[in-house]
Amino acid sequence: MNLLNFVSQYPDESSCRAKFKEYRDKQGVICPHCRCTEHYWKQDKESYECKKCGKRQSLRANTVMHGSQLPFRYWFIAIHLLTSTKKSFSAAEMQRQLGHTYYEPIWSMLHKLRQIMGKRDEQYSLSGVIELDEGFFSTETDEDEKDKPLKRGRGSQKKSKVLVMAESQPLEGKTTKTGKPRQVGHLKMIVINDLRANTITPLVKENVSEASIIDSDDSTSYVKLKDIVKEHHPQVIPKTEIGKILPWVHIAISNAKRMLLDIYHDIKPEYLQNYLNEFCYKFNRRYFGENLFDRLMIASVSYKNQFRCKTR
Ligand SMILES: [Zn+2]
Repeated sequence: MNLLNFVSQYPDESSCRAKFKEYRDKQGVICPHCRCTEHYWKQDKESYECKKCGKRQSLRANTVMHGSQLPFRYWFIAIHLLTSTKKSFSAAEMQRQLGHTYYEPIWSMLHKLRQIMGKRDEQYSLSGVIELDEGFFSTETDEDEKDKPLKRGRGSQKKSKVLVMAESQPLEGKTTKTGKPRQVGHLKMIVINDLRANTITPLVKENVSEASIIDSDDSTSYVKLKDIVKEHHPQVIPKTEIGKILPWVHIAISNAKRMLLDIYHDIKPEYLQNYLNEFCYKFNRRYFGENLFDRLMIASVSYKNQFRCKTR
């Protein structure tokens, strides 16, 4: 959907509200009190009324818009803009585009959308041959860490650690100068507090199917991976070879870093996961084209109110 189509399809608040209701009806409304799925629509109250217990919920209740005062059209515009570019929008840029007075609600809206992108991707496990490595992303230093002397490199307070996994299927019968070409599938990026095997192993178990084969370096963080997947191939990887042996995780890490640098300054560590959710969500749906708007709308109406962002 290009901008002209979007504007003609959603010219005003009532067209967006009607479309949002259409999405909700299609996905099914559930009563939070008795789990009943049959409701009357009360036009005068703009609410659903449970056929069994009579409790009402508003059109926004139990969706990504739960508790939001922003117009439906803001949400539609935000979803359109986020899904129509490979890059992203900062809250400040979105605020300018919408001409809204306050920064905070726009910031919160974008983070809620990024959270549901993450929730959506959590439902899927990676499978096949998987590249696995850690990435180190620059983030703002926490207040209580500021007075401590800065550590350098991997342990630096300014770097957040991220576990990165990418499906990377070797293509049979084809070789290039860089070795075996691989075809990338889905991608996951998970912010972690430390690099201990006890942290990493359960996360991999949660996100990767048992029949997988994992390629990684020979870090002690990965010593237990052989117990949870079909095969684990740890290897000593010289720094210069890393792009050949684990090509897709490294392309993904550098693209994600570039996207973050372009748009955001001083990301707080606690919000890094949300930005990575957006990056992975779009990467994993890179062939969806125009359907991406529709998919994110479905996710937006389907998720309950799990999104009360911590205010800064
Ligand atoms: Zn009910």
